[in-house]
Amino acid sequence: MLFKVWEQLKSYSNKYTQPHKRNRLQRYLFPLILLTILISVRHFFASVIRYDTPFLTISFVIILSAWFGGLGPGILTTILGSFIIHFLYVRPNFLPYEFESILQMAMFLTAGFLISVISEAKRQTDIQKDEFIAFVSHEMKNPLTVIKGYAELIHKQGKIAKNKFMAEAGQTIEVYADKTTQLVNELNEMTKIDSGKITVRKKEVNIVNLVKKIANEQRTINPTHKIVLKKTTSKKIAVKIDDYRISQILINLISNSVKYSSPNTSIFVGLQKNPGNIIITVRDHGKGISPQDQERIFDRYYRTKDASKIEGLGLGLFISSEIARLHKGSLWVESQPGKGSTFYLKLPR
Ligand code: ADP
Repeated sequence: MLFKVWEQLKSYSNKYTQPHKRNRLQRYLFPLILLTILISVRHFFASVIRYDTPFLTISFVIILSAWFGGLGPGILTTILGSFIIHFLYVRPNFLPYEFESILQMAMFLTAGFLISVISEAKRQTDIQKDEFIAFVSHEMKNPLTVIKGYAELIHKQGKIAKNKFMAEAGQTIEVYADKTTQLVNELNEMTKIDSGKITVRKKEVNIVNLVKKIANEQRTINPTHKIVLKKTTSKKIAVKIDDYRISQILINLISNSVKYSSPNTSIFVGLQKNPGNIIITVRDHGKGISPQDQERIFDRYYRTKDASKIEGLGLGLFISSEIARLHKGSLWVESQPGKGSTFYLKLPR
């Protein structure tokens, strides 16, 4: 129970402590709104507010502002907060030059400053980390394309020259270049989500054909598993979607089912038409996912413990749920450990 609460806390702090994702206007507006609320509360509830409340409330506002926006908003709130304390809350017998008052104010300013500096340090680290990921994932694309091209050539030449070693070496490089490209693409998509650059271009698509096409392609790519497309009642269901992005989700779900279930097991892909939406399902008979993990697998970088031996970055489901959200749809999982998992993608019609 305690462990679950701890894990949940970590997940929330990861999700919500990200000041580097907010723009300057949001970062500075937030403390100004909080301070305005504080002044209004003081104005309307003056009779019930005690004299020792201001330090606590303003310290709380500073912590919130620094957490939300980093150094600038934190310092701004500290300075504005000290003026507000002085002019709005100060006790009638308050002597600004008394040692106790100076000490209190110095402690208040130091705490505000420290909190702001610590938040800014985290903000800067996150900015640098994001820039680094964006740079590396962008710069790796071209070399990988060249490696893949030459690997294909070696593979083909090896076959023509009946050189088994050359053909196998070429093919192996090709497979690993594909895997690396997949990881690099996921990193790239994540940086696009962060910078708000991920876009969906919707057009009317027959989803029955799209699901069929992806299932067939995945069947060819993954001969180790039996990918079964369940029969749908309609031949045509028109939905307004970005077919490239929705294909990305389906590929991710099917390849996850392949990755996390044993060879020769079946993977069922289904499509269900409802009055206001459609639901695509991908069901496997693999390891399954524990209830605690089911809540977290859609988080960025989250991977279950038993997935650590299988390659992956923990980004596929994060990107997929972001794409589903951009379509005003949703993505969720139902699973029983040891029995398999079913992923659901719901899209409005
Ligand atoms: P990746 O597969 O690259 O690790 P994902 O975001 O696609 O990243 O998945 C996150 C985690 O969810 C995986 O690491 C795995 O632990 C779990 N997972 C996803 N799909 C399945 C599945 N079909 N069966 C069991 N576990 C799964």
